[in-house]
Amino acid sequence: MLKQRTLRRVVKASGIGLHSGQKVMINFVPHTVNSGIVFRRIDIEPHIDLPADAMLIQEAFMCSNLIKDQVKVGTIEHVMSAIAALGIDNLIIEVSASEVPIMDGSAGPFIYLLMQGGLVEQDAAKKFIKILKPVEAYIDDKKAIFTPHQGFQLNFTIDFNHPAIAKEHQSATIDFSTETFVYEVSDARTFGFMKDLDFLKANNLALGASLENAIGVDDTGVVNEEGLRYSDEFVRHKILDAVGDLYLLGHQIIAKFDAYKSGHALNNQLLRNVYADPSNYEIVTFNDMGSCPIPYVEVS
Ligand SMILES: [Zn+2]
Repeated sequence: MLKQRTLRRVVKASGIGLHSGQKVMINFVPHTVNSGIVFRRIDIEPHIDLPADAMLIQEAFMCSNLIKDQVKVGTIEHVMSAIAALGIDNLIIEVSASEVPIMDGSAGPFIYLLMQGGLVEQDAAKKFIKILKPVEAYIDDKKAIFTPHQGFQLNFTIDFNHPAIAKEHQSATIDFSTETFVYEVSDARTFGFMKDLDFLKANNLALGASLENAIGVDDTGVVNEEGLRYSDEFVRHKILDAVGDLYLLGHQIIAKFDAYKSGHALNNQLLRNVYADPSNYEIVTFNDMGSCPIPYVEVS
């Protein structure tokens, strides 16, 4: 059988919080089978666990936050996307503050850290959620749709009328695997408009945001001296966010995902719509990697 995965050993790192601007410790700790992904606040005694569950998500200031009993872990989507890409099923993510460190604004550093821990198989079948019929979510003119598909394909379109974001670079498609995620998506950084950033900072928010962890855009173009990492980095980052948001189902989804101007709130609404009707999906397992429609990196 294709087995569940966790890390082989603990990995410790730190970075700064996007909103607080303060140092945050983050530790990746192996977890037992059928435990899922769990965020743990280690700055609170006794420690508080927040399972990475779609039903505990609230969106705030452009990121996905887990909230349980008034305890929060914010900005979880980039680390969740890295965990999804490596096919990790069970993991504890300890954080010393109410947000995951922003690192460089992409998922690349998290991929690197998780690979430092090494992957190990566990003695239980890896479960997937297979979509059986179309499921849709809409907010205003934004939409997000799942349709049945042998694999996990993401098609994303953004719609910005801005000189920094060329029309031909506003749509992207990937057939999800560890390899496509790592090479085509993981390094895409979050982005923001400089005038919004000034407003947030004036209101004591996004204190850690800088051109070290985001693409800054002003009225004429990209502010970062190094420019973009991919010509379509903006839409690739939206795919990165969606991979993390959609992994909050607790298992990798098998479906095609089509999104137009979607964001964290709409991605989450789509997951709630999946759960709303049990005939929308089934839980499946596979005999081996060869029969699984999503190619993951081999366990070393
Ligand atoms: Zn993001």
